[in-house]
Amino acid sequence: MLPTHEDLAGKTAVVTGGSGVLCQVMAKELARQGMKVAILNRNVEKGQKVADEIKEQGGMAIAVSCDVLNEENVKEAYEVVKQELGECDLLINGAGGNHPDAITDKEIFEAGDIENTSLKSFFDLQLSGFDHVFRLNLIGSLIPTQVFAKKMTEYGGNIINISSMAAPAPMTKVPAYSAAKAGIDNLTKWLSVHFADAGIRINAIAPGFFLTEQNRGLLLDEDGSLSERAEKIINHTPQGRFGKPEDLLGTLLWLADDNMSGFVTGITVPVDGGFMAYSGV
Ligand code: NAD
Repeated sequence: MLPTHEDLAGKTAVVTGGSGVLCQVMAKELARQGMKVAILNRNVEKGQKVADEIKEQGGMAIAVSCDVLNEENVKEAYEVVKQELGECDLLINGAGGNHPDAITDKEIFEAGDIENTSLKSFFDLQLSGFDHVFRLNLIGSLIPTQVFAKKMTEYGGNIINISSMAAPAPMTKVPAYSAAKAGIDNLTKWLSVHFADAGIRINAIAPGFFLTEQNRGLLLDEDGSLSERAEKIINHTPQGRFGKPEDLLGTLLWLADDNMSGFVTGITVPVDGGFMAYSGV
């Protein structure tokens, strides 16, 4: 059981993508700490399920239908949150993901790949796939920040973005996702500088490799055994395992609590079992 952070109780947290695998665990922990939590998701039924689970445990939560790429939609969600829970103190930009049209089949290009019509090489990637991934991961964090941070400029606030191990060094096969998450690290720094005087802290968490719906197809073979890629990841993770969503919670609470990290802004914290530290040799 994680320690109680009294500073968080009674404050309002907004979690985009809050019904996703990683962010629903964050939302539940923030509610357990006494925060009022708004789950913002395109699919409000999924969000409602998480909100109901929080309420069953005695917490306070609402689910709000919201596409983070639709500015009007996010503004409407802001109004709902303000009315039902009060102004947002903590925004977690959790909505993110990948797209098949922005993923190459092979890690390294080889002669003959262009002629091989059954293979999706770099040259077969669709701009629409790139556009989707850039928009979802980068613009999908920018729009909620614009909408929810406006009021924070009056009384301070806290924003946590979700980066990835694909940001510091790009991962093979996923060029758009890697570039978009590198953009998140960069934007996190920019925002932290821009809003330092306004009392808004902006940091990011970079999860290592967690087995979730988003990457299940890449990490597990059809029979449920580890794919070649998953073996590679485990071999490159000194702690020798995938992360569990709960592994993120200590860092989340540390960054969320002004008493703990009040002088910390503009950083991306890896929670990766040592993946980033390891050169592979
Ligand atoms: P997930 O797919 O379970 O959750 C993503 C959530 O975002 C889903 O609830 C989805 O409905 C929501 N979403 C997608 N598009 C949206 C939109 N336009 N508007 C509103 N909501 C939208 O994925 P996850 O693995 O829990 O990932 C959460 C975050 O962590 C993402 O930013 C992801 O890139 C990042 N991440 C995941 C891993 C991992 O190993 N799973 C590693 C590093 C970073």
